[in-house]
Amino acid sequence: MAIQTLNPATNEVLKTFEAHTSQQVNQKLQAADTAFQQWKNTSFEERAQLMNRCAEILEQEADQYGRIITLEMGKPLKDAVAEVQKCAKVCRYYAENAAEFLKDEEVESGASRSLIAYQPLGVVLAVMPWNFPFWQVFRFLAPALMAGNVGVLKHASNVPQCALAIEEIIRKAGFPEDIFHTLLVESKAVDAIIENPIVKAVTLTGSEGAGSKVAEKAGSEIKKTVLELGGSDPFIILEDADLEAAATTAVKSRMVNTGQSCIAAKRFIVVEGIADAFLEKMKEKMQALKTGDPLTDDCDYGPLARKDLAEELEEQVQESIRKGAKMVLEGGHKEKDSAYFKPMIIKDPKPGSPAYEDELFGPVAIVFVVRDEDEAIRIANDHRYGLAGTVFTSDHERGLRVARKVETGAMFVNAMVASSPEMPFGGIKKSGYGRELSYIGIREFTNQKSIWIG
Ligand code: NDP
Repeated sequence: MAIQTLNPATNEVLKTFEAHTSQQVNQKLQAADTAFQQWKNTSFEERAQLMNRCAEILEQEADQYGRIITLEMGKPLKDAVAEVQKCAKVCRYYAENAAEFLKDEEVESGASRSLIAYQPLGVVLAVMPWNFPFWQVFRFLAPALMAGNVGVLKHASNVPQCALAIEEIIRKAGFPEDIFHTLLVESKAVDAIIENPIVKAVTLTGSEGAGSKVAEKAGSEIKKTVLELGGSDPFIILEDADLEAAATTAVKSRMVNTGQSCIAAKRFIVVEGIADAFLEKMKEKMQALKTGDPLTDDCDYGPLARKDLAEELEEQVQESIRKGAKMVLEGGHKEKDSAYFKPMIIKDPKPGSPAYEDELFGPVAIVFVVRDEDEAIRIANDHRYGLAGTVFTSDHERGLRVARKVETGAMFVNAMVASSPEMPFGGIKKSGYGRELSYIGIREFTNQKSIWIG
C-alpha cells in the first residue's frame, strides 16, 4: 500500500512512497536493538556532541525543512521555519542538561550507600501526528537519544517526507547507524510493532482514539506509554484583565498552526461585565487575519492539513449550532474541494454538543459568558480533557489561585500556552498521562533503578 504526500493548499499529490513491509520493519527493529547495545554505553559528552551537531543542521537548513513541512501539511512557511528552529533549541537543551538530569542520585537510607540510577530502556516507538511534524518528533527524540535509548518513528501518514527528512538529519549529524529509523507504515501495522519484544516503550501524540488503542495494546504487552492527546483548553478572562492584551493573545492562541494545536485555546470563558467589549475586539482581530498561499510571507493562516479535517470540523460546528450555539463570526469550510477553513466564533454551546464536549481542531473559537470567577472555573473544569489553560487578570495572586483550581497539566497567567524545553508538558484526564520536556520528560523512558549497598 502506498503512502501519499499531498499539498493541502493545492490538492496536488507531491510524492508516493511504498509502505515498508513487515519484514523490512522487523529488520529495522533488529538493527535498532543492535545499535542500542553500543549506544547505551556511550558517554553523555559523546551524545551531546552529536546532538549539538543535529541542532546546527536544523538551524542551517531550517528554510529547506520548513518548506517540506508547509508543502505537506499547509502551515505558513514562517511558522514552519520557526518550528524547525525550535527543534534545534530542544536538541541543545538536552545536550547541555542530560548528564545533570540523569546523574546518579545518592539517597539517605539504612544502607551504607544507596542511590537511584537512571538507565535507558532500549528501543522506544514514537507514534506522532502531522500538526507539528518536526517539533513533536524532536521533543521525543532529543531526550530519548541523550538518555541512551534509540528511537523508531511511525509518523502520521500525511507527512512521510518530514519523517524521512528527520531520519536524514540524524544520519547527517553523525549518530551511529540505526540509532533512529522512520517506519513508513499505516496505523494498522502499529500493533505488531508494539508486540515485538525489541520495542520497550511507546510514546504517542495524537487523538484520544489513537492513544486509547495504542495504550491498550502496550498495556497488554506490559510496556510503558506516554500519551499526549487532545485538549479543549480554557482561556479565562476576568473583569480586571487587560482586554486588549487578552483579545490579542486569545486570537493568537486560537489561530496558532491554523487552529490545529492541542494546546491552542479553544474555549474562551469571559465574565459578563466585559464580554461584549472582549468579543468585539476578538472578532475584529480574527477578521483582520490574512489567508492565502502558505509559502508566501503575507499569510497568517493556511489550509487545514487535510480536506477531511475541514469537513469534520464543519460538521462539528453545524451540529453545535443545531443544538443551540449562536454564531458570532461566520466562516467555515466554504469550498467542497478545498482544505481551507475560514475562522469562526460561536457562543454559548449547549452540553451534549460537539463544541461543548469535544475538541474542535481548527480555527473555531467557542465563547462562554459567565457570572464570575467561580462559574468560569466550573465551566473550565466541565470537560473530559485537561491539557492546559490560560487566565487573564491584572492580579497575579488571583491568577495563581485560579491556575491552581483549573484541572489541567499546565496553566499560564496573562500569557498564551506554549511548550518550552525547561517546563514539563502533558495533560491529565483524557488528555493523557506522562510528561515530556524538562528533567521529568527525559526520565520517563529510563529504568529508575534503586541500588542498595549493604
Ligand atoms: P490521529 O490521532 O488519528 O493520528 C495521530 C497518529 O496516530 C498518526 O501517526 C496516526 O497514523 C496514528 N494512529 C491513528 N490511529 C491509530 C491506531 N489505531 N493505532 C496506531 N496508531 C494510530 O489523528 P488524525 O490525523 O486522524 O486527526 C484527528 C484528530 O486527532 C484531530 O482532529 C485532533 O482532534 C486530534 N489530534 C490531536 C493532536 C495533538 O497534538 N494532540 C495531533 C493530531 C491530531 P495515521 O496517520 O497513519 O493514521
